[in-house]
This record gives sequence, structure tokens and C-alpha cells, in this order.
Amino acid sequence: MRKKVYAHALSIYEIDVDFFVKSNVKVLIADLDNTLDSYRLYHPGQRAYDLKEALNKVGIKLVIISNNKGKRVGSYAHDLDVPYVWSARKPFAGKINRFIKDNNLNRDEVMLVGDQLMTDVGAANRAKIRVVLTEKIVKEDQWTTHINRIFDRPLRKRMMKKGLLPDWRKVYGQIK
Ligand SMILES: [Mg+2]
Repeated sequence: MRKKVYAHALSIYEIDVDFFVKSNVKVLIADLDNTLDSYRLYHPGQRAYDLKEALNKVGIKLVIISNNKGKRVGSYAHDLDVPYVWSARKPFAGKINRFIKDNNLNRDEVMLVGDQLMTDVGAANRAKIRVVLTEKIVKEDQWTTHINRIFDRPLRKRMMKKGLLPDWRKVYGQIK
């Protein structure tokens, strides 16, 4: 059996927006903590605004789906003026599935970007949507995430070694 391959990027901000265009993405679901910004921030940095603008320009909507609490996710997403789902309970796909259903989305046109194998890649797989795995954007994590990293780090290393996490540039236009 062929093992599943996921695109990998150092961060969501290094991915060329054209990558999403070529992958026929209409809705990009971004994880918040350590994907878009540090878990401490209640307000987006300039790069998040720039990313949203660049995506919107080519007709792609940005959505934030986070396991974090409503107050912080809401504050961040409100500033950025994007739809959001909080307490998403990734790796469970319930809330992602509901979002897809409520917004009448085609799963082939949705992609998730997140920094964790367990939660983000796990949820994307369960929701049957494509996913790009990133490294964490800042060093610090919330304590709950520390536990996930214990499993994430060695698994990520093994997958890298086996070529299961190719750089996004290598799978440009091939992720259908
Ligand atoms: Mg995260």
C-alpha cells in the first residue's frame, strides 16, 4: 500500500498564493496557533493581513478553524475579517464538516494548512480535504500542544526521511 504524502512548508507565509490557485483551492482553512501567529496574540500581524488580501485577490477565501477558545479566535478573526470556527476539536472533523456543509462547499475546493500532524493533518484526513503541514511559526506552544509535539516530532522526522512530506514546491499543481 502506498503511504499518503502531504505537502510541507516552513510556514503558511512562504507558500506562493499561486500554489493554491493551481491546486484549485477556493477556500483555505488555516489553523491559528503557530500557523498564522503565536497563541498569545489576540490581533493579527501584518503578514496575516497581506496573506488574506493576496488570497482574496485571486478569489480564495480564508477561514480560521482553531481548537482555541472563542474569545481569542474571535478577536483575531474579527480583526482579519474572516469567518472562523473556535473550539474546533481537531483531530475530530465534526466542526469542519459542518462548516463545509453550512457553506455548501465542495471538498475538492477546500485545503487546510496547519502546523500539527495530530490535530491538523488528522482532522483534514477525517474531513477528506487536502492539507499542507507547516513548521511552527514561533518557538512557544500552549501546554496542551507540548503533549502533541512529543508524538509529532519523531513521526514528522520519520515521514521526512521516507519522503512523505515533500516541499510544497515539489508538488506544485499536482495536489488534486
Ligand atoms: Mg497550531
